[in-house]
Amino acid sequence: MLPGDPGFEQARRVWNGLVDKRPAAIAYCTGVDDVVAAISLARENNVPLSVRSGGHNVAGNSVCEGGLVIDLSRMKSRLVDDTRRVAAVEAGLTLAEFDSATQAFGLATTMGVNGDTGIAGLTLGGGFGKLGRRYGLACDNLLSAEIVTADGRVLQASASENPDLFWGLRGGGGNFGVVTRFEYRLHEIGTEVLAGAVTFLEPRAREALRFYDSFATAAPDQLSLDAAFVTSAGERLFSIAIFYSGPSGKAEQILAPLLDYAEGTAADVRLARVPYLQVQSAGDAVFRTGRRYSWKAQFMRELTEDAIDVLLDVYRRAPNENALLVFQQVGGAISRIPVSEAAYACRNAEFDCFPIAIWDDPAKDQENISWVREAWAAIRPHSTGAVYVNNLGEEGQERIKAAYGPNYQRLVELKNKYDPMNMFCLNQNIKPTA
Ligand SMILES: Cc1cc2nc3c(=O)[nH]c(=O)nc-3n(C[C@H](O)[C@H](O)[C@H](O)COP(=O)(O)OP(=O)(O)OC[C@H]3O[C@@H](n4cnc5c(N)ncnc54)[C@H](O)[C@@H]3O)c2cc1C
Repeated sequence: MLPGDPGFEQARRVWNGLVDKRPAAIAYCTGVDDVVAAISLARENNVPLSVRSGGHNVAGNSVCEGGLVIDLSRMKSRLVDDTRRVAAVEAGLTLAEFDSATQAFGLATTMGVNGDTGIAGLTLGGGFGKLGRRYGLACDNLLSAEIVTADGRVLQASASENPDLFWGLRGGGGNFGVVTRFEYRLHEIGTEVLAGAVTFLEPRAREALRFYDSFATAAPDQLSLDAAFVTSAGERLFSIAIFYSGPSGKAEQILAPLLDYAEGTAADVRLARVPYLQVQSAGDAVFRTGRRYSWKAQFMRELTEDAIDVLLDVYRRAPNENALLVFQQVGGAISRIPVSEAAYACRNAEFDCFPIAIWDDPAKDQENISWVREAWAAIRPHSTGAVYVNNLGEEGQERIKAAYGPNYQRLVELKNKYDPMNMFCLNQNIKPTA
């Protein structure tokens, strides 16, 4: 698709309405041969390229200015083998499409919390979600991948084929080529889970944050507790989202401390058995495509008294009612996998904490972006210093190194081997040194 073609204006847009780039062409690939051809075209003509699957990344790196966008969103074949509990899927699937295919068999693997996110970008950066504490990250459940490298070769990567590349694909993002196919391990979770929320008015938030920190960090793997400051009808609230995927018989005992605490302190308590697919799409209305978004994330190990002071203060300064201050819980199985196992390195955190600004009026860009930056800076002394690569904006090379920690040097060596000319540079870039 070229500028001027019908639909081009829409086709160059991505999830984040702040991103406004004009590529020279968009190649809608329908199979691996198309991807090989698109990469060859870019290489032979020295054209910058970007790779887009779900188009959901906050940084907007999946589109480029004046270059070629390799778009995989039409590559959606999916095959679920319920006997082997394996899903073989093409890279253009969204999370909602992946989840609905596996849930037809009562199976699932860890995916994120927003249905229109692409499985490709999510998995290649790590991929956390409600099942992560139980089964590890999306990338921890990856069994193999098919990838087209900068020189146009189609390679398989798994524990037995090109294992170095397989290591790098599990967290190293889009640095090594275009992944066309993923194979995931699935888990039997049934089609329903226990889910809900406990919500506190702001005057109770300090105490509720203390409780959240101690209860969440001691929770069993089947329980995942994300939380957020939100504003509803002018009222600032702190809400803990409950997701329990373990045996029903144990739920009451596991959740008793939370429900006891909520009694008399919470403004609202909701808990019910609901379809897993319903939980997975619950955030979709909040994160609609095309609005303007900014966020800046960092990991936290605990919510100390000093950290709680800061968290309360930054949310009071939020620019509007759409703003959120989110805690995505990690830990559990994610943290029991050695850091050297895969490129993804941030395994010792409990929470991914990030202020999110959402707005529509371009005149408000500065106000919203400034709040996010100031909130992040205030929280920074209480963080681990590390960051989830999929939540990075354009934050510079030091932050990319912070995301990979001890794995960074090994990623540079892989980049030297598979993409020494840095063709795949529109990403959280590992710079080759060869
Ligand atoms: C509202 C929202 C909620 C989110 N929730 C979660 C969550 O719960 N858990 C979580 O882990 N993350 C979450 N994320 C972050 C998400 O994982 C990243 O934004 C991810 O990059 C999205 O993947 P995508 O395919 O849609 O990205 P795109 O924007 O299409 O691509 C982003 C980058 O990924 C790389 N890439 C994409 N496809 C390929 C491919 N086929 N081959 C090689 N490289 C490729 C490229 O470098 C590209 O620049 C969320 C993001 C948003 C906006």
